Amino acid sequence: MSGTTEVKQKPRTAKDIIGPDKDPHLDEDNPFEAMMARFDHAAELLDLDPGIYRVLRMPEKQMIVAVPIQLDNAEVEVFTGYRVVHNTARGPGKGGIRFDMRVTLDEVKALAAWMTWKCAVVNIPFGGAKGGVICDPANLSISELERITRRYTAALLDVLGPESDIPAPDVNTNERVMAWIMDTYSMHQGHPVTAVVTGKPIEMGGSLGRREATGRGCMIATREALKYLGLPLRGTKAAVQGFGNVGSIAAALLEREGLTVVAASDISGAIYNPNGIYVEDAIAWVREHRYLAGYPGAEEVPAEQVITMDVDVLLPAAVENAITRKNAKDVRAKVICEGANGPTTPGADRVLEEKGVFVIPDILANAGGVTVSYFEWVQDRMGYFWEETMINERLEGVITRSFLDVMSVAERHSVNMRIAAYMLAIERVAAVHRLRGLYA
Ligand code: GLU
Repeated sequence: MSGTTEVKQKPRTAKDIIGPDKDPHLDEDNPFEAMMARFDHAAELLDLDPGIYRVLRMPEKQMIVAVPIQLDNAEVEVFTGYRVVHNTARGPGKGGIRFDMRVTLDEVKALAAWMTWKCAVVNIPFGGAKGGVICDPANLSISELERITRRYTAALLDVLGPESDIPAPDVNTNERVMAWIMDTYSMHQGHPVTAVVTGKPIEMGGSLGRREATGRGCMIATREALKYLGLPLRGTKAAVQGFGNVGSIAAALLEREGLTVVAASDISGAIYNPNGIYVEDAIAWVREHRYLAGYPGAEEVPAEQVITMDVDVLLPAAVENAITRKNAKDVRAKVICEGANGPTTPGADRVLEEKGVFVIPDILANAGGVTVSYFEWVQDRMGYFWEETMINERLEGVITRSFLDVMSVAERHSVNMRIAAYMLAIERVAAVHRLRGLYA
């Protein structure tokens, strides 16, 4: 007998838990794994305390609810709904609700955690949450969507609340859906509770500037990045993937700053004009015809070409996994501004970094939306509403300051903007956990 006894070392930092062969089988397309890969990387660099690391890996609450409704043809259909509250250390859970056939629990978990990091990056007093219902809004009537929304809200009455968890719009949800959520919740409380949801119609406690806020934040972040890189605004070419609330408004505002938007895409395909698309015109076309296809001021090209187009700025503003290990090597943009959540996979991150592409990460780039959601929540609670100029000025202040905060972490630690943003966010959330301690 050699007499050696194995002494189990207590992990000293997150690094000891993550171990040397982290993510050997990383599933790039799974947003939760993609989020965790970046989280682990940042946690290691921060030498994060193992206890806090364990706490932050696990969402606080994960709800799966049945959403039965009667369809217009009198049949009963049961939809699946999710709500995940990732973390509430810094404030109530905050995050959108999406209606989409691609919704999965792993996706909602990732999106909820991204909300925690996003709110921390821009330093607003919210935690992170997200919700989704697996459904196809294109094939549902307005009244079916209303019944889904109300039943989903009713199933989550114990979770939602202006002090606990505050939804907002996301993919395929809008102001009208937020109005139904507010109404359902309020009817159960017995009085109007405007602050339970943000992104509401202006008439009922919504905020001026909220609808444009995510796109405006993208524009501000892109402008800061170009300034940092010493690139001009005028004549700089941009392409936008996704022409919904985020992509179309970001494109219009970038155009106003002097950039030339040469391409845009949506699920109907892509349009391209080397001299620039007149974005307001394209928005008006979509308002009337629903999709970009058929827009007369540009030629039609395959949608996937937008990602690899010869432009200076690329704005992925659709859903996850647009830029992957496969197409990242063909990206020609110098700056990527992530309007969507999780549009770039970790494998693509590596390729883009080697190519020297400057990526403004989602948790900073698209944080304008939740920032104005915060302003909306504050206004609802005060019962006093601000002028749009004040909202836009304050948004401008938050995004520029956050850009510089992330930049300084990136420079100090010699890491890219994404890892810097995670480091800044994780450290801010961890600081509160240290102060609050564990209640047991
Ligand atoms: N859905 C948006 C996002 O992903 C906004 C969330 C909010 O305003 O709460 O950031």
